[in-house]
Amino acid sequence: MAASESATERLIAAAEAHSAHTYHPLPVVVASADGAWMTDVEGRRYLDLLAGYSALNFGHGNRRLVQAARAQLERVTLTSRAFHHDRFAEFCERLAQLCGMEMVLPMNTGVEAVETAVKTARKWGYRVKGVPDGRARIVVADGNFHGRTTTVVGFSTDPEARADFGPYTPGFDVVPYGDSAALRAAVTEDTVAVLLEPVQGEAGVRVPPPGYLADVREVTRERNVLFVADEIQSGLGRTGRTFACEHEGVVPDVYVLGKALGGGIVPVSAVVSSRAVLGVFRPGEHGSTFGGNPLACAVALEVIAMLRSGEFQRRAARLGEHLHQELGRLADTGQLTEVRGRGLWAGVDVAPEYGTGREVSERLMDRGVLVKDTHGATLRIAPPLVIGEEDLDWGLAQLRAVLGG
Ligand code: PLP
Repeated sequence: MAASESATERLIAAAEAHSAHTYHPLPVVVASADGAWMTDVEGRRYLDLLAGYSALNFGHGNRRLVQAARAQLERVTLTSRAFHHDRFAEFCERLAQLCGMEMVLPMNTGVEAVETAVKTARKWGYRVKGVPDGRARIVVADGNFHGRTTTVVGFSTDPEARADFGPYTPGFDVVPYGDSAALRAAVTEDTVAVLLEPVQGEAGVRVPPPGYLADVREVTRERNVLFVADEIQSGLGRTGRTFACEHEGVVPDVYVLGKALGGGIVPVSAVVSSRAVLGVFRPGEHGSTFGGNPLACAVALEVIAMLRSGEFQRRAARLGEHLHQELGRLADTGQLTEVRGRGLWAGVDVAPEYGTGREVSERLMDRGVLVKDTHGATLRIAPPLVIGEEDLDWGLAQLRAVLGG
């Protein structure tokens, strides 16, 4: 090791030597975090404007969530589903209530819940809708991001996510996102579900045109097809409502949840739906060793309680309005070519003369603000919903500064 090498350089070099290069992180090594702030191994502080891609909606080290986790750690953390445990019923009941649904199927990571939703829709298609065996199809949108398993990347339209992982699972039809007519045309007798993000996160926070989600609801209802809303990133307060679907007054048949449900502490995901849909499963047909474990349930129960108050949704709506106003100004001056989003969530495209998304992210990092670029020119801004207004303003001032004024 060179004598002048910093802890940051040493830890990044070690990570690069011993981990597969599936990410290209910003060169910062976080050692601790609190609320909307992170501190690196050199003691430098950063404002977190990414919030773990919305997994940290309630901030780092949220006291209520840490307390709930700590209390559960002392009692029981894992039973497997071979036995009942005393947090499970309450978790399922409360989560179903939050969603206005009846049943919950808990998993761990987001993509597992998406896979579970795919299996649910297919089984429902065969057992309830009466689709002939092996013919079930699911309509998805281009630009989607639903996770990284082989089935899920198989219907991705992002070559980086998809290439060289085939052969791909059949049974998916891709239509342009936001195009109701194309969606209507893609639905056949064999279609069991339409699977969509109500706002496409990874694609750069793409909000569909007004009326689109309502059209999807109408088509799926007419054709006896399940509307499956992947609210893993858009849900649980981020857009100023509990679910992004609410902005159009739409209730899907199935919610797919993850990220913030685990409070940034443990991976917790779930498929939430009616008895008519999730009731299709029988013992042995699906499961997970860790899904619905006591620790996960305890943390998620606290998350659900926090969301029930509506406080975080209101905060996201209020701060989000402010965020979009300020970003709108940067669009007016041409520093940003497009600003999209809903609530405390924005995707902004940086004008090429100010550098790539990566370059702007690095310049922001040097000024103590952490965001992440996507698709070349886009930055995603998704602070923890607990961020203070002054901190948000300070972060926006840094963005103005790196864009030259
Ligand atoms: N679905 C959506 C909409 C997502 O944004 C993500 C992750 O970014 C996933 C699914 C996958 O979640 P996970 O990374 O927890 O598997």
